[in-house]
Amino acid sequence: MAKIVPLFSSSKGNSYYIQGNSTAILVDAGRNLKQLEAALALNDLSLRSVRAIFVTHEHTDHISALKVLLKRYDIPLYATRGTLDALTASDKVPASARLNVIENFVETADFRVARVQTSHDAAESCGFFIETPDSRRLSIVTDTGYLTEDARMAISRSNLAVVESNHDLNMLKNGPYPYILKKRILSDSGHLSNPACAEALPDFVGAGLTRIILGHLSEENNLPSLAVSEAIRSLTAAGMTVDSDYTIDVAPVETNRKSISF
Ligand SMILES: [Zn+2]
Ligand SMILES: [Zn+2]
Repeated sequence: MAKIVPLFSSSKGNSYYIQGNSTAILVDAGRNLKQLEAALALNDLSLRSVRAIFVTHEHTDHISALKVLLKRYDIPLYATRGTLDALTASDKVPASARLNVIENFVETADFRVARVQTSHDAAESCGFFIETPDSRRLSIVTDTGYLTEDARMAISRSNLAVVESNHDLNMLKNGPYPYILKKRILSDSGHLSNPACAEALPDFVGAGLTRIILGHLSEENNLPSLAVSEAIRSLTAAGMTVDSDYTIDVAPVETNRKSISF
């Protein structure tokens, strides 16, 4: 059985470890290397089993470990051309790094990983649709102002999905962020709100998704309890029952040593 270990999730840093049979991949590496290694060690894991690193886009909270990590570990990096160009131009990856462009999908370490279209203010951001060695399917879709058709399709085909539930609209509106930043978060190329996430979930569970992980929650403008209750309210209204039709978790800011099998 495949499993995912959410290591970090928030605007402070994001990283997910995905375990297949004997190999693993990492999606995003958005803390420093020491913190990443410590989070893996807490879960009795290490970068030595990671065969490939995928990054969604070049924002710091997704890539900050890369430069040191890729110097110390000979692990290939996969991203869109736009993301790789942005990383190279800003000197965020070492010259020796093994960089691989994902045009549509790649097959590596017994995983098949396809890019999924997101809408975000980055060079060429994406999410991922991942098929594990035992044919389990998972999507990771965060950092998107809205759910694109492509993202909806990928999540509908998944057994497990990490979906962004970034902010509560009232908390964001009444919160401390400057107007320009609020506008950015709310825009079509910003971040997905609790209600935008919640309204989409019934279609996904109806299509066969059984494991929901809400991700990239804002520490300033959201609470795990708000995101979860909004999601459950929407699913309940569609006649779906938590812990029977689906399970729901929140990706923690820092690992809580919980892995989710799928
Ligand atoms: Zn982010
Ligand atoms: Zn971002």
